[in-house]
Amino acid sequence: MQYPVDELVRLALEEGFTHAGQLNTSALVFMPEVREMCRADRCHAYGKNWHCPPACGSIEEAARRAAGYSFGMLVQTVGRMEDDFDYETIEATSKAHAESFVSMMRRLKKRYQDILGMGAGTCARCKPCTYPDAPCRFPDDAYSSMEAYGLWVSKVCELSGIPYNYGPQTIAFTSCYLLK
Ligand code: SF4
Repeated sequence: MQYPVDELVRLALEEGFTHAGQLNTSALVFMPEVREMCRADRCHAYGKNWHCPPACGSIEEAARRAAGYSFGMLVQTVGRMEDDFDYETIEATSKAHAESFVSMMRRLKKRYQDILGMGAGTCARCKPCTYPDAPCRFPDDAYSSMEAYGLWVSKVCELSGIPYNYGPQTIAFTSCYLLK
């Protein structure tokens, strides 16, 4: 199937992302070292979310799942901060990115029978996540992060020819979708 890059980029921009482009699928290298960074629990989600390690499955399972897709796209939301401590903008940009990510995923699911979305950070739809006491409340919208899959996001961007960093006093959130 021909990958409709321009059309998917247009959809992504309509959904509110600031940048989008084709993902180089050969850049999808699933690294145990990245998964180990999850275990360090700097984001306080390790062992607390259905879509974070260890509940989201092993790195081998992540690689196997991703191997079933033939093309992909990267999407980004870039915020402009007033200074290096502009946490308000960081939080607002993160929230906007998560909303665009879920909205785009729903839209893509109408066109493609099977997609795999990997977001930026933990699925934060429910506060707190129901893990481990009850099933995920929104399995259709829930997602793992690129890092939980073991992807080195800056490397994936670099190998896809898409910036990861947009310069001083900017904050960028990056996610991706795999499709077939
Ligand atoms: S949708 Fe809710 S219950 Fe499901 S993984 Fe996300 S936060 Fe947890």
